[in-house]
Amino acid sequence: MMERFVFAPLPGRVVFGAGTLDRLAEEVAGLGVRRALVLCTPEQRATAEDVAQRLGAAAAGVYDRAVMHVPIEVAEAARTHAAERGADGYVAVGGGSTIGLGKAIALVSGQPVIAVPTTYAGSEMTPIWGLTQHGEKTTGRDLRVLPRVVIYDPTLTVSLPPRLSGVSGMNAIAHCVEALYAENGNPIAALMAEEGIAALAGSLPGIMAEPGRLDLRTRALYGAWLAGSVLGAVGMALHHKLCHVLGGTLNLPHAETHTAVLPHAAAYNAAAAPDAMRRVARALGAESAAQGLYDLANALGAQTALRHLGMREEDIPRVADLATANPYANPAPVTRDGMLALLRNAWEGRRPDA
Ligand code: NAD
Repeated sequence: MMERFVFAPLPGRVVFGAGTLDRLAEEVAGLGVRRALVLCTPEQRATAEDVAQRLGAAAAGVYDRAVMHVPIEVAEAARTHAAERGADGYVAVGGGSTIGLGKAIALVSGQPVIAVPTTYAGSEMTPIWGLTQHGEKTTGRDLRVLPRVVIYDPTLTVSLPPRLSGVSGMNAIAHCVEALYAENGNPIAALMAEEGIAALAGSLPGIMAEPGRLDLRTRALYGAWLAGSVLGAVGMALHHKLCHVLGGTLNLPHAETHTAVLPHAAAYNAAAAPDAMRRVARALGAESAAQGLYDLANALGAQTALRHLGMREEDIPRVADLATANPYANPAPVTRDGMLALLRNAWEGRRPDA
């Protein structure tokens, strides 16, 4: 990776730290937005109302219909509502689902999105959009959907329940792990990825015990920023492909699926990407990357078996077929037998052997 690489940073502005939500109105005005529609899920309506209040006359209201995986009907309803309200920009307050809705509107309108992330999923740092139609998720890259400003205020993450914080953090770690062996990786992305894993692994276990600790929440959100940055900067591999298939075809929960699959994807790639694994293990403070990831997931009280997340044993061959068809670039060759073994281990939730 060191010998030859391309480095192409994305544009964007990041405002980080406890209390930075106070700067929202200024940031929105700085983009020339006069009527920002605040987007959220139904559960986060109260937070979004507070955000709208901070915007005062620059708010076009709150739209609380964001749901997982951005169904096309939800995106279309939001676009219509935004046009009716005369919105010229969007403040997405929430996790990947809410930010995804903002991206779906921006994809068509070209209007700016300001993201205020409240999970560790990382969508706010990427130009990747996703839309679901008839149970099938389509994704693409378009710079128009990349949020122009991201406000990372860790005080908004204190309410994220410990169990969700753990799996959301593992989702972020997955971006970092795959960035370390990405086909188009570069030394800067690798630095960020390793630091991201260390920040998340160093804070998430403490958050389980004390979810209100702002210092730990700050460190975790810093890790999530790094993770989102590398997700946006370099290509993902086998792990993300598997999670995409599992989420898309079996409708398994996003962050939980990442958590269960990651140790096994790392084990699968261990021999083919030794330098990446050394860096993952170092960041985790573990002997082995794959085992360290598995042990961290357990320490976070996460479910590590796909069979407990709604996958049936008879789904294994179908998912193996789909993962083998049009695979993403990956350090170890992606074979059907290899996928069958990997998926069985993840389905059972076994600790990787090495
Ligand atoms: P999510 O956005 O679906 O949020 C999960 C739940 O947690 C929701 O009910 C939400 O309201 C609630 N929640 C969020 N923050 C909270 C907080 N601080 N306090 C209390 N409740 C809170 O989950 P997610 O894992 O962030 O996002 C998953 C979605 O994002 C998936 O559809 C995934 O495909 C997408 N995603 C996209 C990208 C990308 O680059 N396009 C990257 C990562 C994830």
